[in-house]
Amino acid sequence: MSTTINNRAAIVEVDHISKSFPGKGNVELTVLDDVTFTLHEGEVVALLGKSGSGKSTLLRTIAGLIAPTTGEVRYRGKQLRGANPGVGMVFQSFALMPWLTVQANVELGLRAQGVGEDERRRRALEAIDLIGLDGFESAYPKELSGGMRQRVGFARALVLQPDALLMDEPFSALDVLTAENLRNELMSLWAQPDFPTKAICVVTHNIEEAVLLADRVVVLGANPGHIKAEVPVHLPRPRDRRSPSFDQIVQ
Ligand code: ADP
Ligand code: MG
Repeated sequence: MSTTINNRAAIVEVDHISKSFPGKGNVELTVLDDVTFTLHEGEVVALLGKSGSGKSTLLRTIAGLIAPTTGEVRYRGKQLRGANPGVGMVFQSFALMPWLTVQANVELGLRAQGVGEDERRRRALEAIDLIGLDGFESAYPKELSGGMRQRVGFARALVLQPDALLMDEPFSALDVLTAENLRNELMSLWAQPDFPTKAICVVTHNIEEAVLLADRVVVLGANPGHIKAEVPVHLPRPRDRRSPSFDQIVQ
């Protein structure tokens, strides 16, 4: 069922994966059953499903934080073993380190990559500026509103200039207006031709949000989680300008 869209390159391929966890009384709990889909360059994919349908498990498998029981996940054609080197993640509950300042939180991933202090600082301040947090470098998470905290979450992912951005219900802990602002800002960044991230995969249980954000909606059914439908969203997107296929057409 792997799809090729206008010959766009595959970034992540999820190939017939299943995932089981040990359940009560030694009975295996199957959470994902034979899930296959591809995240291509230039697209935003929404994973839409009810609570418990395995969305977070699927996203964490793509990130390489958990291994599938059967099947495989490939990043740029290579089977994942361990953490996916090409992704940045944003979480619903922000997952910030409360004892670290905004800047130190944003620098965490760069630190893990062994990036030196000067470059860390330069890149962190750039990401903080990009996401509208300038002036808050030295603040601690508890001093910030929910919306600002999630901006830190975005800065922490974007500072890595990830090939693919994975977001697990990134707006659902925010009030409606804050969520709308942040969604719009993310989409403006995405539309910029020099935005380094090539694909976005967003988990949501909100059908309206899925349609607003995504070029394609992958619908997960529950018990166990499986792909119920894949629906293209036909809305013109400014970011289509930067897809390789479009460049080829206009040349
Ligand atoms: P969603 O994000 O769609 O709400 P999840 O992926 O979080 O769904 O969870 C799907 C199912 O898998 C739930 O029934 C959940 O309890 C179960 N599950 C998730 N992670 C684990 C785990 N580490 N161990 C056991 N069960 C888990
Ligand atoms: Mg979830």
